[in-house]
Amino acid sequence: MKSAWVERDAKAAVDHWAKTGVATDLALRVYTTRLLGGDPKLVLHGGGNTSVKTHVQDLLGEDAEVLCVKGSGWDMGSIEPAGMPAVRLEALRKLRARTAMPDEEMVRVQRASLIDPQAPNPSVETLLHAFVPHKFVDHTHATAVLSLIDQADSEALCAETYGRRLGFVPYIMPGFALAKKAAEVFEKNPEVEGLILDKHGIFTFGNDAREAYERMIEFVTLAEERLHKKGNAKFAGTRLPHRIASAAEVAPVIRGACTLRDAYGEGAHKRLILHFRSSDTILNYVSGKDVARYARAGLITPDHVIRTKPWPLIVPAPETGKLDDFKNAAQQAAHKFMDDYAAYFARQKARANGAAMHDPLPRVVLVPGLGLFGLGASAKDARVAADVAEAAVEGISGAEAIGAFKSISESDMFDVEYWPLELAKLGQRKPLPLAGQVAVITGAGGAIGAATAKAFAQAGAEVALLDIDADAAAKSAKTIGGAALAIACDVTNAASVDTAFNQVVAAFGGVDIAVSNAGAAWQGKIGDVDEALLRESFELNFFAHQKVAQAAVKVMLKQGMGGCLLFNVSKQAVNPGPDFGPYGLPKAATLLLVRQYALDYGAAGIRANAVNADRIRSGLLTQDFIKERAKARGLSEKEYMSGNLLQREVTAEDVAQAFLHQALELKTTANVTTVDGGNIAAALR
Ligand SMILES: [Zn+2]
Repeated sequence: MKSAWVERDAKAAVDHWAKTGVATDLALRVYTTRLLGGDPKLVLHGGGNTSVKTHVQDLLGEDAEVLCVKGSGWDMGSIEPAGMPAVRLEALRKLRARTAMPDEEMVRVQRASLIDPQAPNPSVETLLHAFVPHKFVDHTHATAVLSLIDQADSEALCAETYGRRLGFVPYIMPGFALAKKAAEVFEKNPEVEGLILDKHGIFTFGNDAREAYERMIEFVTLAEERLHKKGNAKFAGTRLPHRIASAAEVAPVIRGACTLRDAYGEGAHKRLILHFRSSDTILNYVSGKDVARYARAGLITPDHVIRTKPWPLIVPAPETGKLDDFKNAAQQAAHKFMDDYAAYFARQKARANGAAMHDPLPRVVLVPGLGLFGLGASAKDARVAADVAEAAVEGISGAEAIGAFKSISESDMFDVEYWPLELAKLGQRKPLPLAGQVAVITGAGGAIGAATAKAFAQAGAEVALLDIDADAAAKSAKTIGGAALAIACDVTNAASVDTAFNQVVAAFGGVDIAVSNAGAAWQGKIGDVDEALLRESFELNFFAHQKVAQAAVKVMLKQGMGGCLLFNVSKQAVNPGPDFGPYGLPKAATLLLVRQYALDYGAAGIRANAVNADRIRSGLLTQDFIKERAKARGLSEKEYMSGNLLQREVTAEDVAQAFLHQALELKTTANVTTVDGGNIAAALR
């Protein structure tokens, strides 16, 4: 590992932050914190922190000696001065005299000692930073160091690798007791350049930002060199089937196995999003004969537990063509996992301070021959779980190369998993109604599709936007942001639809909702219309709906947790307009298609509903067309667009809300919701 310190960049950071009144100490602290946070081999998703001891003016304009330490909720890779709250150092140092201190009180004192009462909570490791005298203190959970210290004889290995340059602190959960112990270890040998926290991570000290940072790099490099003498462990492989099924085939099966029926209502499920990863190192690890031993031996560093649970689910290797066998085995393995988790909670619950059991679903699934999946309530959480799982693969493979991986005890692990201060890193999030669901929307480059994708994303779903116009899909996806996925898809082409659904499954692990919305209007007097034109309209306005529904149902049945098909049928399906036969006829067939899906797949929990909308500004009803129609009828544009019983213009957002309601109505199928402002002639009987 090489130092990323660049003198010119450090100076630029100082100049940049000086413009906003940030002093040099804090600017350099931000600079090296970002260097550490930018390397996943050093810092992953909130796993590390840094500090600087300096002086600031308090709110009364008086000088105060403070510790600026990483604040909760900030990512080291993108931290700013506001993410390093200043805490009065004298107050923190006074706490050293205590013999014990509950976490809540520690947090209260830390908050009471903030210079800015609105600053974020200082890190849970603040006291450790305060109790050592050095100006700059850096802390990471570097993977290579973890490989060295996740061993039974970690102390001897550290002595061999670092000599007396680093102090060795036995495992204690973060908080007051750890800070006190670390200070004691330091004081026994004040010459040390940092501390090893057994089974947890490493601290380095420095009189300036560069010294503390480059010591971190040097000690991590020494750990890497110690490991590389032997390279990563090459695990003896297990027997694998000749041909392994693909991740896209396997993901919906795993997703369906790792689910819970939700107490919220019959038909509801707690669903998770999947994120797939594979590499040579991952394959070697997941396909190892002893994977159950080393993968279930615990965590490489305790705070991973909130992202990955204490252990992963391990399923058998999936053989091509034998997915039914795989499904049975995966379900059995998942049930066993949930039972094991409940038993673990029952064994340890006296330590939970009355907290309820977290859901027992796995957050990491190892698939021999294929790779690993991270699971989470959102695509982001799933990716974070996969990142952390990949770090565990690296760390454990490294540990096994030089010895045998050893983690903390089950009760120590439980303490961190149910520790309110650790869980605070996840933030307070109210679950959204479609959280964990995957929605595919066709015609998503158009007005109704784009509005629907947006409404579903706001309700918590992960959305895939399909459109024949790739740029239009990408544009709509961009307005949503996050993990929204844009895919070019010609819904009249079966291969294109299959490819698109495979892409969605590869990205999110499955499909729960399909909004078959793409359509276009053809006109012609039915008595003399060209048959080719009629067939063309049937291709898009009927057969494409069938292709999309078929592809969706295939995935939903693999998952086995029901699903929701939503169709855009026009008012033409029930109330034909003159010369709109070529448009209305296939739409009428699609209305019947909705009912057929409701009938044939109700027993599988798959619902099929339609929205019957009229007169929406869109690609079908363009500005010029509206102008022309309004003029022909002697109406203003507004009067034309509001020509309904309620005299209100109907918008794409209104249609989107109707789709959203149908997606949420778990007891509703074969329903048609009319969104047209009121039109008695088009009212459904
Ligand atoms: Zn730590």
